[in-house]
Amino acid sequence: MENLTTTRICYKCDYETRTATETCPNCGHRLRTAQQIRMLGWLLTAIGGGLTVCMALLTVAVAGIMVPPFNRHASTRFTGGPEAALLIFSIFGFVMLFGLTSVFAGIWQIRYGRRNKHLTAIILTLAVVFIVLGVLVQILL
Ligand SMILES: [Zn+2]
Repeated sequence: MENLTTTRICYKCDYETRTATETCPNCGHRLRTAQQIRMLGWLLTAIGGGLTVCMALLTVAVAGIMVPPFNRHASTRFTGGPEAALLIFSIFGFVMLFGLTSVFAGIWQIRYGRRNKHLTAIILTLAVVFIVLGVLVQILL
């Protein structure tokens, strides 16, 4: 029977050991206990959840300004074209997707006491795509 409290797992390469070493012999990364990975999981879930809720509220608020039937304040009328509206909602949607993936990754870590490599790869890919898109938007607009 495996004792999870003393098992140390490499956060980077999933190397597992029960000896009390601080660094991973495989990649040199710091080893973490399952308990520490679960704590990071809670953090990831909280940040991802917060991000998703903020973006959802922002989407509702912006949609309220953009969509004429819901806009009761003529002074804050949205003046951009449909392309600008699409771009704004794409960004919101993208950040929400990023947040939701973080929540899933966090829950996984809490549940299993280790990191899900696939979810981490997705989060990193989303982050890179988002940065690239941000740079492109700045160049193009
Ligand atoms: Zn390692």
